[in-house]
Amino acid sequence: MSDTLTHGKVGIFHYTLTNDEGATLDSSRGGQPMAYLHGFQNIVPGLESELEGKGAGDTFIAHVAPKDGYGEKEGPGPQAVHRSNFPKDFEPQIGRPIRAEGGDGQVVTLWITGVKGAQVYLDVNHPLAGQNLHFDIEVVGVRDATDNEKQHGHAHGIDGHAHHH
Ligand code: ZN
Repeated sequence: MSDTLTHGKVGIFHYTLTNDEGATLDSSRGGQPMAYLHGFQNIVPGLESELEGKGAGDTFIAHVAPKDGYGEKEGPGPQAVHRSNFPKDFEPQIGRPIRAEGGDGQVVTLWITGVKGAQVYLDVNHPLAGQNLHFDIEVVGVRDATDNEKQHGHAHGIDGHAHHH
């Protein structure tokens, strides 16, 4: 029986992500495909809407504008923060998100964009903000979500039983 991607289904797909210049930014090919829970914002909205109604064996290219991807670039750009403001065992990795509390007590996600000596550069923008994204997609499977997955709001791997933090 063939199943298609609708709210509450788990989609399993291979992707290759390229930018406007055609450079590959990320790819699942050669490794495990990606599993996500459809309709729960596990993936960028522009890609999720293109996957709606697709089934195993479908291949297509989704062109996603920043507003349907990781957003337009905002703010003044990366800000330098001295390492002494981080825990002692903190190892800054470029491209990794960190959670920080803003002045108003609101938790914000910041992205590490660079490290120079004792300075760590943080930005409010996702590294892919402001970019057009081109996803070359092959849907390899669609299955029902487990109750546990629906409760958590995300997929637990390809078979639904993956352990996670
Ligand atoms: Zn979970």
